[in-house]
Amino acid sequence: MKSSERFFSNTSCPFFPCHEGIDREAFNCLFCYCPLYALGRACGGDFRYDEKGRKDCSGCPFPHRAENYSSVLARYPEIMAVAARSDEEETTDEH
Ligand code: SF4
Repeated sequence: MKSSERFFSNTSCPFFPCHEGIDREAFNCLFCYCPLYALGRACGGDFRYDEKGRKDCSGCPFPHRAENYSSVLARYPEIMAVAARSDEEETTDEH
């Protein structure tokens, strides 16, 4: 695939491709750090939580599939709501 505002492959990355199951030519690095991570259990991906309670997304290729670009962007209102709640809690804690 051709690089654009919605797709690029960082073939220079030592981890490339960092998830299995996607053709190298179609592996999207745009969402290297998945924006859906912040949605916790509601992200919709194939995650698990480890014994220390940390979310492990190593088995989830969702944000790296080029065809999922629009699906990731569609979740931004939810991500913005998470950020707003976090800001609100921070402000409340200061008082
Ligand atoms: S998504 Fe990030 S870590 Fe994975 S191959 Fe691309 S640049 Fe490397």
